[in-house]
Amino acid sequence: MKVEFFRHNIDESDIATAVEVLQSIFLTTGPMTSRFEKKFADYMEIEEAVGTNSCTGALHLALLRHGIGTGDEVITTPMTFVATATAILQAGAKPVFADVCPKSGLLLPEAAEAAITEKTKAILPVHLYGRMVDMRGFARLAQKHHLILIEDSAHCIEGVRDGVRPGQLSNAACFSFYATKNMTCGEGGALVCRNAEEANWYHWDMEMMGWKYNMDDIQAALLINQINRLNENRGKRERLEQLYRDLLQGIDGLDFVEAPGNDERSAHHLLTVLLPGKCSRDEVMHQLQEQGIGCAVNYRAVHTLTYFKKTFGYKPEDYPVADDIGNRTISLPIYPALLEKEVEHVSTTLKRSLALGSLF
Ligand SMILES: *Cc1c(COP(=O)(O)O)cnc(C)c1O
Repeated sequence: MKVEFFRHNIDESDIATAVEVLQSIFLTTGPMTSRFEKKFADYMEIEEAVGTNSCTGALHLALLRHGIGTGDEVITTPMTFVATATAILQAGAKPVFADVCPKSGLLLPEAAEAAITEKTKAILPVHLYGRMVDMRGFARLAQKHHLILIEDSAHCIEGVRDGVRPGQLSNAACFSFYATKNMTCGEGGALVCRNAEEANWYHWDMEMMGWKYNMDDIQAALLINQINRLNENRGKRERLEQLYRDLLQGIDGLDFVEAPGNDERSAHHLLTVLLPGKCSRDEVMHQLQEQGIGCAVNYRAVHTLTYFKKTFGYKPEDYPVADDIGNRTISLPIYPALLEKEVEHVSTTLKRSLALGSLF
């Protein structure tokens, strides 16, 4: 049995909408992008949304919009996709890491506060695997220290925590519609914010150097109907995660990241497990892949990547929690079209591979 790491859910209605665009006058940013932006803003319960061609571009723009550049420090998490940190570098600023919570892998406001220096201009927390960070806490922190707050919400379109959605308490939240995200058009992104004036800047003015990050109408066409299916698909992933948790419980040394609280809605974007410290994650991954099971690493801690080690002199032990998660984590298939029997197969195969773990 082959189980792909991800299968998108682009359907006939999405394809028909894209064909409509191809038969119309506008191919690039036009009426379909506007319709998408309006509908996405409504879904996010926020005033403004702007389509972009990636989340990386959206993060870069959001940082520039708030004047972040050379000499500034931006506090973020080392447990994220590298683009969170490279967007900060692209803006000319320095990413400063704060270690994550061992249970959830999330950046906590207390940890971010301890990393604040006189050069800190912004905080860029990441909603990891679908769970939101404590945005009420981050908003209080940003207000107290007069800092810009930008969310990397690539994993979290559908999330709610303490009654707050991404973008509602910050200066901007950035989303990705990359190939493996909950909603996708291959490559794409968006940025949401509370203030129409801010959003217009992203479109029309040139107050400083600009970058070409616009979404086109073909991307918007592929995305616009997927918004209708977000909640149902989220429910499917939630049930699949529960099944994985049931099937993989009680294995010595194998940990799940903390499940979302009762007052919280996770986007359930990725299903990550932390393998027992004594076994080789790469070897287990290799075995799963050899047996036709797609899996991934989300993520090796950013500060342990060669560029960051070389440029900033980081050592793995500088952020030990993120380093440990990065060495043990493995992401298993989770998407709406995944069948229960496939989850059972993946779980059995993983267990078998762990039973052999003493061999490597
Ligand atoms: C996917 C992802 C990004 C980058 O998104 P792109 O649209 O590929 O630029 C950034 N941050 C996180 C956490 C991601 O998962």
